[in-house]
Amino acid sequence: MAEKVIPLADHRYAAALPRIPLQPIPSTGLLSDTLGRPLRDLRISVTDRCNFRCGYCMPREVFDKQYQFLPHDSLLSFEEITRTARLFAAHGVQKIRLTGGEPLLRKNIEVLVSMLSELRTPDGEPLDLTLTTNGSLLARKAQALKDAGLKRVTISLDALDDTVFRRMNDADFPVADVLAGIEAAQRVGLGPIKVNMVVQRGTNDREIVPMARHFREQYGGAIILRFIEYMDVGATNGWRMDQVLPSADVVACLNEAYPLQAIDANYSGETAERWRYADGHGEIGVISSVTQAFCQDCNRARLSTEGKLFLCLFATQGHDLRALLRSDHTDEQIASAIGLIWQGRGDRYSELRSTQAPDTGSGAKRVEMHYIGG
Ligand code: SF4
Repeated sequence: MAEKVIPLADHRYAAALPRIPLQPIPSTGLLSDTLGRPLRDLRISVTDRCNFRCGYCMPREVFDKQYQFLPHDSLLSFEEITRTARLFAAHGVQKIRLTGGEPLLRKNIEVLVSMLSELRTPDGEPLDLTLTTNGSLLARKAQALKDAGLKRVTISLDALDDTVFRRMNDADFPVADVLAGIEAAQRVGLGPIKVNMVVQRGTNDREIVPMARHFREQYGGAIILRFIEYMDVGATNGWRMDQVLPSADVVACLNEAYPLQAIDANYSGETAERWRYADGHGEIGVISSVTQAFCQDCNRARLSTEGKLFLCLFATQGHDLRALLRSDHTDEQIASAIGLIWQGRGDRYSELRSTQAPDTGSGAKRVEMHYIGG
């Protein structure tokens, strides 16, 4: 097979046709990239659509009624997603997270969950199968997702105050419906549940303590609230450093209300730094992509809605796996191509952020978060 890289003219993001190496790269589960990082986590975006218009992800000025979302036939089918996920599992992936856009907008998503739940690691273990959602459809879908084999969910919720929340989601969506979704997920056993709050200075930083109070008092230690630094993902959200509230400030603020103690990571590569409430009412996490980059342990790959493989949340170029899936390549060839891509990976954007020019959209276009998930 030729080893030529063919840049594809893509209407959305640049992607190269992956090379199939002359020597097969066996699926040993022991792949590592140029920085010695293994491949353990695959995030799969199942739709580029969302019913929210959060300013940090899909600002309404850009993603308006004229915006052309991907046509259905360009999306990977459930069979294509499952085939790809199987190849990644053979290469060492242990966790799959379904994302979007809003993944619950993908029709019959529970069918995909059921197909993915059949996959196993090389040791015969089931994968850690999870999903990140804005919670808006969760009350309706929680039982079907659980029945299909989903293990747990992460729900995005940026405020408890209904006015602040409606303003942030810019779709006039009430907080009560998301809370009902969290309640339903808890009831059917989609846990441990994590709730992610993106903190923006001057927008929702007053919600930090009320959010902590709510989840401590309502759920004890059963729900883990995580505070995420506002990141410069994509090129459309107009990110500025002065809008970032460092995680150290979040911890200091919470510590005054509810004293905290640092605890160890659950596993190497965990994105959140963990803290427990000293009074035993559970734990919180902080994700500090901006002020404390964690690229050195990053073991995540991302598969876009239309089958492009991205190696970093801040990538400007993907690898067009769909082109291989829709040709007559064998599993072994596609697995070797994935292996070669991972072996060549050197991405560490967050560690280099301070040395890079801000992305204004004029240069190579950084991938948007709604297209590859967070
Ligand atoms: S910036 Fe890229 S390499 Fe670094 S942790 Fe985030 S996704 Fe991983």
